[in-house]
Amino acid sequence: MILYDPSFTLRLIDYGIMIPVSPSRPDRIIEFLNSGITAGTRGATLPYPGPVFDFTAARLRLGAAGPLINRDDLERVHSKAFTASLYDGSSLAEALLETYELMDDQGRPRRYEPEKAVKPLIDLFNTILAHVEGTYLACRLALLEGPGFCYYLEGGTHHARYDRGSGFCLLNDVASAAVKVLGETPHPAPSGREKPVRLIWVVDLDAHKGDGTAELVRFARERGELAGPGGAESAGAGCILTLSIHMAKGWPLDGESLAAARPGRAPLVPSDIDIGIDSGEEAEYLPRLEEGIGRLEGLSAEYGGRPDLILVVDGSDPYEYDGLASSAPLKLTLDQCVRRDMFVYRYAAERGIPSAWVLAGGYGERAWEPPAHFLKGIR
Ligand SMILES: [Zn+2]
Repeated sequence: MILYDPSFTLRLIDYGIMIPVSPSRPDRIIEFLNSGITAGTRGATLPYPGPVFDFTAARLRLGAAGPLINRDDLERVHSKAFTASLYDGSSLAEALLETYELMDDQGRPRRYEPEKAVKPLIDLFNTILAHVEGTYLACRLALLEGPGFCYYLEGGTHHARYDRGSGFCLLNDVASAAVKVLGETPHPAPSGREKPVRLIWVVDLDAHKGDGTAELVRFARERGELAGPGGAESAGAGCILTLSIHMAKGWPLDGESLAAARPGRAPLVPSDIDIGIDSGEEAEYLPRLEEGIGRLEGLSAEYGGRPDLILVVDGSDPYEYDGLASSAPLKLTLDQCVRRDMFVYRYAAERGIPSAWVLAGGYGERAWEPPAHFLKGIR
């Protein structure tokens, strides 16, 4: 099934932000899947992968009447001080300017034309918050009927860190949703017995490393709120394992200067499995991803080698026609992108593992193509 709610489409241009994220990407994906369906129509059914849910329909399906993400959920992964600064508005605009890299070193606007904005910048927070809920809803929908599949046509803000936004990502929907889902018992096991979610794999396919998610998961382990790989489950804590396959170079854009400018900040932490692909190694991408999944199985031995849910950060910015300069070092063809997604999809489906997918990075006018062709190709 697909989750998409047009009322929460990210339209950066409305805020004067000139980053080439096409607000029509979800619509173009749905149009490609079925030209006869209006995007976001509640109850609409595509030939495959099934119904399109908006948030209201998704919440009803889960027996909820209102929003399912609140401030407490964010504070389980982000620092309380950072979260508070967003909610009380004291530095929300400042955090957004930093997150979207809208000011240069001299304090001049960069990719930012506030005079063209039709909405106040701080209104963006509500959409960002909704995307956190969307990713959580996608996880719950995937879990609802056993080995399900749900693709959320937004989400994937994997750079957001413990105490600040980063790389166009203010809040980390991936870590927030995964932590919230752990320990829940949202679906009956085949025997009819309730089965809590104990292990989630985050498989991050975006061109840029999932550094924020890696940090939030590590910090939660250090606080004793998550179990680590190979470690015994402690006090009922669930486990999230992170794999990121990404450009070997090019992210973060200014890693060293950033560290120098912010003494005391934690350095970037590794994912449980990081796979860097250099320019020219595109043919190695899929074999190395397959090998990485095998290593995740090894780290999951105490859980029987498999997770209860795979959360896929399905960035399409490795695509050769992506429009963002910083993703240029990796150039997968459309066929390579689709085979990448098909591999993960089939891996999960053949083992009866639910999978939830988020759209993540993808820039320019052709960013809709890889996820659309993948979704159309599912059989
Ligand atoms: Zn990216």
